[in-house]
Amino acid sequence: LFISFEGVDGVGKSTQVKKLQEYFQSRGRRVITTREPGGTELGVQIRQMLLHGGDVDARAEALLYAADRAHHVATVIQPALDEASVVISDRYIDSSIAYQAGGRELTEDHICMLSQFATRDLWPKRTYILDLSYEQSRLRLTGEPDRLESAGELFFERTRQAFLDIAQADSKRCRVIDASQSIEEVWMQIQSDIEQLDLE
Ligand code: C5P
Repeated sequence: LFISFEGVDGVGKSTQVKKLQEYFQSRGRRVITTREPGGTELGVQIRQMLLHGGDVDARAEALLYAADRAHHVATVIQPALDEASVVISDRYIDSSIAYQAGGRELTEDHICMLSQFATRDLWPKRTYILDLSYEQSRLRLTGEPDRLESAGELFFERTRQAFLDIAQADSKRCRVIDASQSIEEVWMQIQSDIEQLDLE
């Protein structure tokens, strides 16, 4: 079972990833949590280059995210799925569609093509898209903003909308969750959905 969490920065993805991990563990399931960019050693280096390396050409940036994902799928995600573990990833393909194709020169088709190549067309069975307004996300962020976090409201709204569009286009896989609710409320929604999904 492969599950991903998506959404703009500050929506509380990592908290819910942890809760879902504990949920499966308490049921005796093998589960791994991972993230993009940076789910592997190579990925940590790519993450450093992407988030703190200054301006990168849009195509080069998309290829670096795809390289991170290819290595991540090949060495972490697919082997875990082969062992029947549950895999929970903090970000996956949809982040690339939302960020790398979000109104810049690259289109969603380009990014999908790249991601399909990189992942051998491996998609999550379920994707939770945590949705939050710009104001609320700013209130929740702590620490130094990275390059993208300081990109401003327009960029935020474009990315947020891109996630919502993805959810609408692929409603079988995606569930949008209102992340302005409390941690427990968000979790209850995820839990009731996962209980159903796990039975399928
Ligand atoms: O969620 P996390 O803080 O790990 O993401 C790091 C940054 O990388 C975020 O600011 C996110 O906007 C960006 N990102 C991106 N394209 C991806 C994945 C993440 O621009 N495919």
